[in-house]
Amino acid sequence: MKTLTLDKQHIWHPFTQVKGALDPIAIVRAKGAYLYDEEGKAYLDMISSWWVTLHGHCHPKIAKAIATQAETLEQVIFADFTHSPAATLSKRLTDLLPGSLNRVFFSDNGSTAVEVALKLAVQYWQNTGEHGRTKFISFEGGYHGDTFGAMSVGKGSGFFKAWEELQFGVETIPYPETWEGDDGVEEKEEAALVTLRQVIKDNEGQVAALIMEPLIQGAGGMRMCRPGFLKKLEKELKTSGILLILDEIMTGFGRSGLMFAHQNSDITPDLVCLSKGLTGGFMPMSVTIASEEIFEAFLGDSFDRAFVHGHSYTANPLGCAAALASLEVFEEENTFEKIARIEASHRKALIGFQSNERLENLRVQGTVLAMNVKVDDEGYTSSVAKKLKFQFLKKGFVIRPLGNVIYLLPPYCVTAEELESAYNVISSVLAGQTP
Ligand SMILES: *Cc1c(COP(=O)(O)O)cnc(C)c1O
Repeated sequence: MKTLTLDKQHIWHPFTQVKGALDPIAIVRAKGAYLYDEEGKAYLDMISSWWVTLHGHCHPKIAKAIATQAETLEQVIFADFTHSPAATLSKRLTDLLPGSLNRVFFSDNGSTAVEVALKLAVQYWQNTGEHGRTKFISFEGGYHGDTFGAMSVGKGSGFFKAWEELQFGVETIPYPETWEGDDGVEEKEEAALVTLRQVIKDNEGQVAALIMEPLIQGAGGMRMCRPGFLKKLEKELKTSGILLILDEIMTGFGRSGLMFAHQNSDITPDLVCLSKGLTGGFMPMSVTIASEEIFEAFLGDSFDRAFVHGHSYTANPLGCAAALASLEVFEEENTFEKIARIEASHRKALIGFQSNERLENLRVQGTVLAMNVKVDDEGYTSSVAKKLKFQFLKKGFVIRPLGNVIYLLPPYCVTAEELESAYNVISSVLAGQTP
């Protein structure tokens, strides 16, 4: 039976109101920046398939690393056992991170990496005798995944109304989102810091950690803030002893221009969550990386002090092999040169988009270009999203607006011509579409 028929009978798709949704497109293969459907139609994947594909689809080096690993060691329990792919990957990742960020805890996806970070933060304070520190601070518009803890700290995203009653208490502070030519940014940053200081004061000795997506709030609409703001934020947190958790699940592995977004601000978090691009977009895997100080607080003579958490596929060797191969590609293919070229191209395109009167709040950070379409119904449920998405797909582009926000987040293999075609399709679709 045809894929679509079977799909419609049996599958429940993510983040989708199935009633009235466009039929899903059955993809049969992918190569580089393209996806191909059953009829052989090509789609230029300008969102890296939900922000995971890093160097390109089906990159031969990563594919081969997975195949070789699958024939050698496909999986082993990770309590009482270890293996070279996990150990080598941990060394490579921690070498890329600042300070004493030195301990890698593996899990399976972004949400679980966030759960691990939240649980570690709370237990860290318990293990060090500060039992009252159980609260979190997060940002308005922040998104950290769909499990309960991640939903709680991501309540500012507005996606989780149905489960609001069941979420734990989180203080949210304003996010100083900014764009090209924004005059109000200083004020917004100051207001955010004033609120932060107040929240810290009102909850003295009760806050375990602050969690944020550094520089770019992804699902919240590719909302960007300035690197200098992170530096000021870090200072406030250090003064009050609150841990800083950076959710680099989307921003990691070059998306922000540098390997990790926090490097743009030269700050040192206590915990970092990575997933999405970790395996180059091939395997579901994530890591939560903790400072040595946090790790040491879990050592002791009783099991109570240990971190009692784990997943069946913790440190799956296939995922580790893919991640190692992906890191090698960064070096072999001079990926940061490609990233710099994408950023330069985006910045040039931004100037062109500035004269488009349907657009506002243009912004670029690294390989991410974003812009708001002027509409009456802003936000994720904006009706313009579906119309635009349909037009882009018809023309062979996977560009999937977040509400009224159009953005590009391409795989790094994308060429100058392909980027140009994506900028052009945005202009032409907006021109042909009645407001
Ligand atoms: C996607 C994402 C998550 C959740 O990751 P999943 O793998 O979808 O669970 C968490 N935080 C950020 C910033 C993300 O972009």
